[in-house]
Amino acid sequence: MIFKNISLKKYNTFGLDYNADCFISIKSEDEAISILKKRGSLKEPLFILGGGSNLLFTRDFHGTIIHPEIESIKIVDKTQDYAIVSTGAGVIWDDLVRWTVENGYGGLENLSQIPGMVGATPVQNIGAYGVEVKDTIEKVRAISLKDGSIREFSNEECMFAYRNSIFKGELKGKYLITNVSFRLTTYPLLNTIYGSLKEETEKLGPVSLITVRQAVINIRTTKLPDPVKVGNAGSFFKNPVVSESFALVLRQNWPKMPYYTDPSGDIKIAAGWLIDQCGWKAKRRGDAGVHENQALVIVNYGKATGEDILKLSEDIRESVLEKFGIELEREVEVILST
Ligand SMILES: Cc1cc2nc3c(=O)[nH]c(=O)nc-3n(C[C@H](O)[C@H](O)[C@H](O)COP(=O)(O)OP(=O)(O)OC[C@H]3O[C@@H](n4cnc5c(N)ncnc54)[C@H](O)[C@@H]3O)c2cc1C
Repeated sequence: MIFKNISLKKYNTFGLDYNADCFISIKSEDEAISILKKRGSLKEPLFILGGGSNLLFTRDFHGTIIHPEIESIKIVDKTQDYAIVSTGAGVIWDDLVRWTVENGYGGLENLSQIPGMVGATPVQNIGAYGVEVKDTIEKVRAISLKDGSIREFSNEECMFAYRNSIFKGELKGKYLITNVSFRLTTYPLLNTIYGSLKEETEKLGPVSLITVRQAVINIRTTKLPDPVKVGNAGSFFKNPVVSESFALVLRQNWPKMPYYTDPSGDIKIAAGWLIDQCGWKAKRRGDAGVHENQALVIVNYGKATGEDILKLSEDIRESVLEKFGIELEREVEVILST
């Protein structure tokens, strides 16, 4: 279905009211192929939009937005130990997580309540509570935006890293992901070591897929603003990765600075703490502000523009660089020019 001059307000979680010249919702892989084979007739540039929960538009989009609405969840292989679940790019991510938990498949429960759609999850290798989606992705099926050809990427070919993948790197904007297959366990292999997850889970009863999911939802609900109530895109910046020697130097100056070594051996510093130390928590500039509970989240209280939010984020970045010598990298993608 093709729409002209459509408002993107309900398609981005900052709630920014910019327009797109052309918007195509795609219901099947065949439809996507036939549209992309006639790419010459589409207004350029093309941009793929999922749930718009990791994006900041800063102006109207003078091109074509492609919005996958391919919805299906199917078990395509199952043994005693695992199930391969093939999922359309347009499935709401948390609907899939709920389905896996209800059906007794393990692996996604720690990633409960992350907004957005399945198709975007390999792009930035979503992660939360000690788990990244790369740990469960079996393969990613995608269509070339150039000529409509299909390509399947193995987990290795996706080149996953911390909030990163080949789809954010060398293949950025080159493929439309139509389907993601997950390898899930048929018996629980629960991971509650991160933060207060174990404690929160145990409050709910015996540790199970259901209680872990509920604990994650409970923690997230208290910490993060609901985009339906106040516009935001979750963590605006990534947690910076630093060398061990630099972390030690920082700890000499700021003994309370939290840092941790993740399973890959990287030392990460909590970006929210750095921002908080620069005095930004709960600061507000017009309708753009920093969330009162989590300094890593920039919010739109109503009428902020994308430019207002971007300017605030740049000022935050500058002050962290000045105070700590650390350059924060954005996790949210900013759409600047079209
Ligand atoms: C309250 C809140 C909490 C959040 N918490 C977390 C968290 O805990 N962990 C985390 O990792 N993220 C978190 N996020 C960020 C966000 O939810 C994820 O990055 C999510 O996967 C984005 O999905 P989306 O469908 O909204 O993608 P979009 O924002 O629409 O797109 C993101 C990028 O993916 C590309 N893309 C989207 N769909 C496709 C596709 N089918 N094919 C190819 N490219 C595509 C887009 O072009 C864009 O480059 C949070 C966001 C919010 C608002």
